[in-house]
Amino acid sequence: MRATVIGSGPNGLAAAVALARSGYEVTVLEAAAIAGGGTSTAELTLPGFRHDIGSAVHPPAIASPFFRTAGIVDRVDWITPDISYAQALAPGRSAIAWRDLGRTAAGLGDDERAWRRMIGPLSKHIDGVVDFTGNNMLRVPRDPATAIRFALRMLPTGTRLGRAALRTPEAQALLTGVLAHANTPLPSLAGAAAGLMLAAHGHTRGGWGYPRGGAQAIADAMIADLEANGGRVETGVHVRDLSALDWGDPARGDLLMLDTTPRLALTLPDVPAGYARSLRRYAYGPAAAKVDFALDGPVPWADEALALAPTVHVGGSREETEASENAVAHGRLGATPYVLAVQPSVLDPTRAPGGKQTLWAYIHVPLGSPIDPTAFITERIEHFAPGFRDRVLASHAVAANAREAGNPAAIGGDILGGAFTLAQAFRRPTVGLAPWRTPMRGVYLAGASTPPGPGVTGMAGWHAARTALADRGMPSSLEHVFA
Ligand SMILES: Cc1cc2nc3c(=O)[nH]c(=O)nc-3n(C[C@H](O)[C@H](O)[C@H](O)COP(=O)(O)OP(=O)(O)OC[C@H]3O[C@@H](n4cnc5c(N)ncnc54)[C@H](O)[C@@H]3O)c2cc1C
Repeated sequence: MRATVIGSGPNGLAAAVALARSGYEVTVLEAAAIAGGGTSTAELTLPGFRHDIGSAVHPPAIASPFFRTAGIVDRVDWITPDISYAQALAPGRSAIAWRDLGRTAAGLGDDERAWRRMIGPLSKHIDGVVDFTGNNMLRVPRDPATAIRFALRMLPTGTRLGRAALRTPEAQALLTGVLAHANTPLPSLAGAAAGLMLAAHGHTRGGWGYPRGGAQAIADAMIADLEANGGRVETGVHVRDLSALDWGDPARGDLLMLDTTPRLALTLPDVPAGYARSLRRYAYGPAAAKVDFALDGPVPWADEALALAPTVHVGGSREETEASENAVAHGRLGATPYVLAVQPSVLDPTRAPGGKQTLWAYIHVPLGSPIDPTAFITERIEHFAPGFRDRVLASHAVAANAREAGNPAAIGGDILGGAFTLAQAFRRPTVGLAPWRTPMRGVYLAGASTPPGPGVTGMAGWHAARTALADRGMPSSLEHVFA
């Protein structure tokens, strides 16, 4: 039996690995020159400076049931920072989320108890949080008590009801910086769901870890597993028309798995009209515009506490971060854009030549925006780190409207595989208990446009593979496939 996977992002590779382990002869076709999609790393600026093209920090990967059971987590050398994430609040002033919950809470003054009560129980029951957020939202959770705990926090955090829950500017900004990952208006329930999940990971054993050498290590571990089981990846193959692709015979059990925009499925013959309408209705959301910097030395943060924080939310106060995200949601760029910055080389010397550093940073922008983010990001970091500009040796920018050229799944520069709204948490891209299955025999959707959505977990790819295996009456539990 043959399985053809289009796209080698973490979800495509997860599906490929699971199917190869189940006896399929697997071929992965990838448009880019490097395999890995959102988990690829390259020398984008100068020789010796290794930059993550997509994802940089990986709390959901370390906790992913797929990566754990498939042995991928064990084959990556993780760096586990003491600081999970930090918020640059004002020049010389920041708030820190340590992996240690108690230390974090103690640093938040009058919000010590509030932070412990809000995030502590979610961190303590992280497996329940991962089960709830890492699956189809329509499924009954395995740990209903934790799902209820999560929902009870999501409601106030995602609405005006929770405005007074945190009183100090530090705690308010620290939480808002992590809610802003969702690229939604703030407050919003979708932002609260993504943010609380990430904040919960912040105080766990794996924390906000990331692979030594870059995100490519995650893709490479999966490719090694795939190849060991007879599969292969072909790069430089952009599939534009599925009707012209020989992927085998579904009647014989051959499979086609799409780690792509679901819209690619519309190029198949015989797509039922109703299904085609649903795929066309599936919406892409605001986008990201990113810059990678090669630096002559560390970022000269005015607050030295940020020096060893791999992830820095350069967002200012809660109000500033919210204004930035709400402007983008209304199709504009705010006056002081929220910058999501990662400085991996502060703990990973393999990422830059001796004494030098890399910095990864993006801002949210409207879908399809042509804005070059370099000046905006440089100015914003300079505000919190005077002298930053002088440390820049080289930079490499990707505007939102250019991202699709490197990854055809990133429609208009949307890096989340489709708008992360509450409605699209349930309709991704269709509503149902198995949205990975399409009405076209043998064809499955395997990417971030299916549940559980964005983030490097491999779970969407795994769900697609297990659905296909179950449809063929084959063993389809993680324990069986990876026994
Ligand atoms: C800049 C950026 C920062 C991010 N930061 C983080 C982070 O820190 N942590 C985190 O967990 N997540 C992060 N993410 C999100 C994460 O990378 C994605 O959610 C994840 O990679 C989705 O995996 P995927 O396999 O569904 O799709 P992708 O990783 O997008 O992979 C899809 C692959 O399919 C290929 N492809 C698509 N269409 C075709 C076609 N027609 N023919 C051939 N090949 C095709 C693409 O080239 C690509 O390689 C980030 C993403 C980006 C872009």
